Parts: sequence; C-alpha cells; structure tokens
Amino acid sequence: MTYFVLLEQRNATLSEVSLDVWNAVQHLAADAGCAEIYGVVIGDIDDGVVSSLCYGNGQVYVLRDKAFDRYAPSVYAQAIAELAAETGAEHVFLAATARVRDLAPRIAMRLGAALVSDCALKADDQGFPKATTALYAGSVRAVAHVRTEIAVYTLGAQANRSARISSSPVEVRNADAFCPEFSGWNPLLEEVRYFTARRDISESDIIVAGGRGVGGRDNFVLLESLAEALGGVVGASRSAVDEGWRPHADQIGQTGKSVAPKLYIACGISGAVQHLAGISGAGIVVAINRDREAPIFSAADYGVVGTIEEVVPRLDSAVRSFQRLK
Ligand SMILES: Cc1cc2nc3c(=O)[nH]c(=O)nc-3n(C[C@H](O)[C@H](O)[C@H](O)COP(=O)(O)OP(=O)(O)OC[C@H]3O[C@@H](n4cnc5c(N)ncnc54)[C@H](O)[C@@H]3O)c2cc1C
Repeated sequence: MTYFVLLEQRNATLSEVSLDVWNAVQHLAADAGCAEIYGVVIGDIDDGVVSSLCYGNGQVYVLRDKAFDRYAPSVYAQAIAELAAETGAEHVFLAATARVRDLAPRIAMRLGAALVSDCALKADDQGFPKATTALYAGSVRAVAHVRTEIAVYTLGAQANRSARISSSPVEVRNADAFCPEFSGWNPLLEEVRYFTARRDISESDIIVAGGRGVGGRDNFVLLESLAEALGGVVGASRSAVDEGWRPHADQIGQTGKSVAPKLYIACGISGAVQHLAGISGAGIVVAINRDREAPIFSAADYGVVGTIEEVVPRLDSAVRSFQRLK
C-alpha cells in the first residue's frame, strides 16, 4: 500500500493540522505493516524545517517554484495529483482545512479517485484505512467503503493528537520536475491576508466560544478574559458572526471551521446541529446556558445553567485564583 500526504505550508513552516495527519498516517502504515509513505510540501520552505517537523518513515518532496507563489487551485491540484500518481499512491490524505475544501475535489477528479471528506481514520482488521464520516451535519456517522483504486481523504482535526511514531526525521527531496507550467491564468482574483496576533482557532487546544446568548459585542470581553486566563482563544457561533460581534474567521460549525480543542467552553450557544458539526473532534465540552433544556447540554461533558454575565466572570476569577496558587 502506498500513502501520500499533503503537508500544508504557511509562513515557511508546516501547519499543525497537517503534521497531525502525517503522524496519523504513520500509525496507520505501522498497523498495515507494509506501507510506503510520501509527503509533499508546496512553497518556499527550508528542507531543514521540514525534516525538523516530520518524523517516521518515508520521503517528503518539496515543490518550490514561482508558479506556487500565489494559490492557484488548478496549478496546485495538478502538481499534487501528478506527484501522487508518480509515487503510485493509493490513499491520499489531507487535513480538512479551508484551502483543502477547494483543493481536494480537484485532486480526486484528476486521479479518478473517490473523495471521502471530513473523516476520522482508523485501520480495519486487515490494516486498510477505515474512514468514518459525519453526515447530516453530524447527526449520523457512516463508514465509507471506497470502490475506486485510489481514494482521497480529508481528515477532520481531533482533540487527541497523533503522537510522533519515531524520532528519526524523514528524508526530504526536491521535486522540481513536478512544478507545472503556469499559464498565468488564475480564477482567484485577489488574495487578502489577515495578520493577527491571535492563534487560529483551528489550532488551539482551548476555545471559549460565544453565541447569541452572549448578548452583544461588548460582552465578548468576558470571554476574551476567560480565554486569556486559560491560555486559549475565542470562537463564535454563526449567529454571533451574523450579528457582527465576531469576524467570520472565528466561526465554528458546518459553514465555519472544524475545531478539535482539548477543552471547548460554549457560552450562550444553543447547540444547533450545524454548530455541533464543527466540534465533533473536541475533547471536553463545557456548556454555559441559561436554558436548562438547551440542546448543547446533550453534547456537553459538563454543564452550568446560568447567564453568561453571572457564570463567566466567576469562572474567570476561579481560574486566575487557581493559577496564583500554582
Ligand atoms: C446551512 C446552514 C449552515 C449553518 N452553519 C452554521 C455554522 O457553521 N455554525 C453555527 O454556529 N451555526 C450555523 N448555522 C446556524 C445554526 O442553525 C444556528 O442558527 C446557530 O448555530 C445558532 O447560534 P446560537 O446558538 O449562537 O444562537 P441561538 O440558537 O439563538 O441560541 C442562543 C442561546 O443562548 C442562550 N442564552 C440567551 N441569553 C443567555 C444568557 N444571558 N446567558 C446564557 N445563555 C443565554 C439561549 O438559551 C440559547 O440557547 C447554520 C445553519 C444553516 C441552515
């Protein structure tokens, strides 16, 4: 069996979510007992950075070319698909990020492969990848049976990160031969980059998320303070984003980001299926809501019935007092 992984590069380093996929695939290959593993990184990144982050078996190809300076879907998809085909990959794995939502169908189409989106991965009895996906906004879980020779999987983030399988760095190789001719045509008109000091919510271990029940933009200060005390970040439901209280980059759920923090605190969020679809990989879920019948409590490990104004500041000061004792 041959496995192939896309390692996403941002600001000359590899994203944590794609390293997580790399590590998960290493474990899968170990279970299968006979897999070859290849990775690909696109863009300007030092070989040393790649080998300092990727451990285990296999080789990682780095594609550097000015054709990749700006994200062009067809150029990226062509390069990845050609390299995957060259390695003889039967299973292609990508972290389910915003860019991969755009890229994965294009890669699958070029490879004539089935696409299994937003799945969780395990090995079956024979060591083959067994992908489970959430359907109907997370209310049904299905096992995907792939009938094509090649399959492309996008993997949702999980709170239980896959550990490195070994301490030996991978072999890093140059793959200039797979840099495609770029005609210059790009359907992407403009790339707007937002620089923020805050961590991306999809890479944070602790998220304090607010919904319509937070009551307004100003009340999010309470959540910011709690998140800061816990070393986490603030996320939001779609209602809070639609109200203009938070930017879209903070939205969690079906039409926002999928997150997998170790701790998720939902404040004034009702728990609609479209929101829960974005937190299926979360570890411990805590809900704070004034309505004891709110559906979020069925998805929570711990629940507090009360208002945001009353509960969040008390939790905040309890966390800070506890930290002073340490
Ligand atoms: C196609 C589609 C895609 C969608 N995608 C997403 C998505 O990606 N993410 C997403 O979140 N939603 C999404 N939605 C919307 C989703 O269906 C819900 O409407 C939304 O999640 C509700 O947000 P909310 O829980 O913040 O607000 P509400 O449903 O209005 O809930 C507010 C909650 O706050 C509680 N509350 C009120 N005041 C207080 C207070 N003072 N203290 C404590 N609790 C209080 C209430 O009891 C209530 O439970 C989508 C919908 C559709 C149709």
